[in-house]
Amino acid sequence: MAPSAHSLPALRTKPRAIFFTDFDGTITLQDSNDWMTDNLGFGVELRRQGNKDVLHNGRPFRDSFQEMLDSVTKPFDKCIELLLQNVQLDPAFKEFAVWCRENNVPIVVLSGGMQPVIRALLVHLLGEEEASVMQIVSNDVKARPGKSINEENGWDIEYHDDSSFGHDKSLEIRPYAALSDRPVMFYAGDGVSDLSAAKETDLLFAKAGRDLITYCETENVPFTVFHDFSDIHKIVRDVVEGKTTVQQAATGAN
Ligand SMILES: [Mg+2]
Repeated sequence: MAPSAHSLPALRTKPRAIFFTDFDGTITLQDSNDWMTDNLGFGVELRRQGNKDVLHNGRPFRDSFQEMLDSVTKPFDKCIELLLQNVQLDPAFKEFAVWCRENNVPIVVLSGGMQPVIRALLVHLLGEEEASVMQIVSNDVKARPGKSINEENGWDIEYHDDSSFGHDKSLEIRPYAALSDRPVMFYAGDGVSDLSAAKETDLLFAKAGRDLITYCETENVPFTVFHDFSDIHKIVRDVVEGKTTVQQAATGAN
């Protein structure tokens, strides 16, 4: 059966465009999982070694990510409290989010992070009103057997799906991409886990200086670079207003 607006929440308001986006390191300046690992878990050196094992030695991302989070034993509520004090928002994201809401461009957050962390940070950084309209598709948190999440060594990540990423972001986008008459689809990201999602959309924004750019160049995925959300805001607005096309906007690394 063909997907309908009923099964695809971002179509409910019949938008002309949908903005899919990564969360950590894209909407925020710091990656919340990296921050916890570096400051509360086994530290930056073991985390970097884990990244290398994934990139060069074929280790599944999910295994390395699990090991990172297993090293963080602080109660979950304490972790959230510390993240709220230390993770900052892209300086231009809030203005973009307000524009999106006023112009009927749904924002769908696709993340390998944990839902309560993302929700708490968005409410803290954007306010309840902007945060409440965003759909978040992500991993979650669960209690370890016989424990509650807010005690020492009490929580564990609960994965969204069985993929080697823990959350295959293309799964959410593909039903929209398959529609014959559909909105323009954007995606913004910064890392390796964003590539599968990026291939499904009309225009990819890749963060300057990050891994995703290298991957797009080797895989021939059309993209444009952004430094902060003011770059994204201009292009999305121009496309939605018909002043430019996604093809014209895909300028690569130039
Ligand atoms: Mg990221």
